[in-house]
Amino acid sequence: MHDFYSDTKTKPTLAMRRVALDCEVGDEQSDEDPSTNELCTRVARLLGKEAAVFLPSGSMCNEIAINVHTRPGDEVICEQSCHIYNFEGGGPASLSGVMIKAIAGDAGRFTADQTRESIRPPSRYSARSALLCVEQTANMAGGAIWPLDQLDAVAKVARDAGLATHMDGARLMNAVVKAGIPADRYARHYDSVWIDFSKGLGAPIGAVLAGSEAFIHEAWRLKQAWGGAMRQSGIVTAMCLHALDHHIERLALDHALATQLGAEIVALPFVKQVLPVDTNIIIFDLADDGPDAAAVTRHLRAGGVLVSDFGARRLRVVTHLDVDEAAGEALIGSLSRIAG
Ligand SMILES: *Cc1c(COP(=O)(O)O)cnc(C)c1O
Repeated sequence: MHDFYSDTKTKPTLAMRRVALDCEVGDEQSDEDPSTNELCTRVARLLGKEAAVFLPSGSMCNEIAINVHTRPGDEVICEQSCHIYNFEGGGPASLSGVMIKAIAGDAGRFTADQTRESIRPPSRYSARSALLCVEQTANMAGGAIWPLDQLDAVAKVARDAGLATHMDGARLMNAVVKAGIPADRYARHYDSVWIDFSKGLGAPIGAVLAGSEAFIHEAWRLKQAWGGAMRQSGIVTAMCLHALDHHIERLALDHALATQLGAEIVALPFVKQVLPVDTNIIIFDLADDGPDAAAVTRHLRAGGVLVSDFGARRLRVVTHLDVDEAAGEALIGSLSRIAG
């Protein structure tokens, strides 16, 4: 099977598995796991923050950050297609008691003016606008990259109004590699930021959340309270360190393959449009008079290719460590047979 369903489908490479065998381990709750300590130090430096904490998932990074930055009854501002609003099981409401104000943005991004309009003036009647969240890259918009000046501008509006700022950087490193802008520069005006190791970086588990010493102190308290604290997590974080060393620059290969596939997909007669392909995600819509997403997905699966569908006529293809040019040819070959 050629699996374009998501970059979460990457399996640890043999080299990655070997480092897990060889690593020294200790109890991370007592700060005794060498790999976990090193990973947190390195990611904090990479993201330009004082400290970092290793967590089981990116969703936990988002939910812990929201909880640290807010009080129950507060409002969190984000874009309507973002992961926090759509794919975290209502966590902001159930775990933190906050309301979400979802901005209708453009390709997962929004403007400084939209941010300004979304912030409630202080009033005894309304919720307190407490936190601004952005997603770099914007997954549901096809891995769209926020331009740096736009990230800076929305953060400035939020901070000037007294809000905290948070960046969901699940695929931040894709933006870094594509745009050539360092991760710490993208994250400069964000109080908290995290990267996922279980997406394109190819590790089996894990994400690292970074921020100030005080922020991470509180994040650690929640990691413990919500049952996310582990013991010999070096078994996993050694693999994340391997990903930092070996799987970042190669994201450029994923981007090149995605660009090429996007160009081939848009030429198919039954495809209405392909969203701009900024990084490793291709989202495309099917023409109204052709096969629907379920039919295309079924056809591809029969031909050994997996993709995901979002609604009746929208499909997503994601490139990553475990799909190469030959897999791309299998995908396009199978799609072309629909056309023929
Ligand atoms: C995958 C993803 C998450 C959640 O990460 P998990 O590690 O799967 O919990 C959050 N935000 C974005 C943009 C993602 O793509």
